[in-house]
Amino acid sequence: MHVGGRAVDVQPQDSASWVERNAASPDWCRRYDTEYRHFEYKSSYATSGCPALLPSATGS
Ligand SMILES: [Zn+2]
Repeated sequence: MHVGGRAVDVQPQDSASWVERNAASPDWCRRYDTEYRHFEYKSSYATSGCPALLPSATGS
């Protein structure tokens, strides 16, 4: 996702929390429970909202 330009990591954690609460663009969502800094883009997030957090990027 990072390579494709559809993911960003926001640090430090205070900044990531701010983005999660105040995201100006609703099509960016935090995706993984274990990665507070990682946000991904999908145009459908703006209309359907963010999906439930996944356990981790590796699926374990
Ligand atoms: Zn990431």
